[in-house]
Amino acid sequence: MSTATTDPVRFDGRVALVTGAARGIGAVVAARLAELGATVAAADIVPGHRWEDGLPGDGGHTRHHLDITSADSCRRTVEEVLAAHGRLDHLVNNAGIVSRGPAATMSEADFTRVIDVNLTGTFRMSQAAYPALRACGAGSIVNLGSTNGHIAVLDTLGYCVSKAGVMHMARVLALEWAPDNIRVNAVGPTIVPTAMTEDVRADGAYMAGKMAGIPLGRMAGPRDVALTVAHLLSPAAAMTTGQTVFVDGGAVIH
Ligand code: NAD
Repeated sequence: MSTATTDPVRFDGRVALVTGAARGIGAVVAARLAELGATVAAADIVPGHRWEDGLPGDGGHTRHHLDITSADSCRRTVEEVLAAHGRLDHLVNNAGIVSRGPAATMSEADFTRVIDVNLTGTFRMSQAAYPALRACGAGSIVNLGSTNGHIAVLDTLGYCVSKAGVMHMARVLALEWAPDNIRVNAVGPTIVPTAMTEDVRADGAYMAGKMAGIPLGRMAGPRDVALTVAHLLSPAAAMTTGQTVFVDGGAVIH
């Protein structure tokens, strides 16, 4: 008899690959999926000793070295996951970087680097995972977008358009892969207190402006994001595809 649960919010018997899982939002997403019964394959570019994830030692979870700027690395990671766990049901495209500075003086290298990691990296990883997600019969993907991909934000041109891109990529892939019963969605968090935002959180004027734009009056916690990612990945969202859910305290509604 199968031990898989029929509870639509749980992941028992299923395998989830989370990119950028060594710290920050990705680490909390990985831990939440593990809490909900998933076997987690956590992947990141940082060396093992620098991981700050909270995955339990038991449960068969695995850690993988991944660079999403390399298609070979993405394919190798999927092969490792299949070798370790025999299947892949869910992908969270979370790995990302930010680059700040005025558009007028931003170097071409700064612009293309953020696009290469955030946007093309999400494409590379999704394409590498596609055959396994199709084979599992009910695959799902969640991309980490951002409010910056929906509203214009000063001094982050490359980041803003990369995030607009991954949210639109969710729509296009949702359409292309619906016949394979693969759902593709995105989340759009407002500012989250992680290493990525350490610099701007130290800037009082920036934060005053930011908070004034968030009706619920606070930053999003990594767990706020993880709960929404888990919902969208899970069978509880079986009829939801191509959507972006903003985890933003209302920032994009006004
Ligand atoms: P973070 O910098 O703490 O974590 C990002 C992780 O991605 C790191 O562990 C890093 O090593 C990994 N990574 C970077 N480049 C990689 C590569 N080439 N291959 C594999 N892994 C790579 O950032 P975070 O705040 O946890 O952000 C996670 C995601 O959430 C990002 O996509 C980010 O854009 C998005 N996001 C963050 C915020 C925020 O305010 N922190 C808001 C909206 C969206």
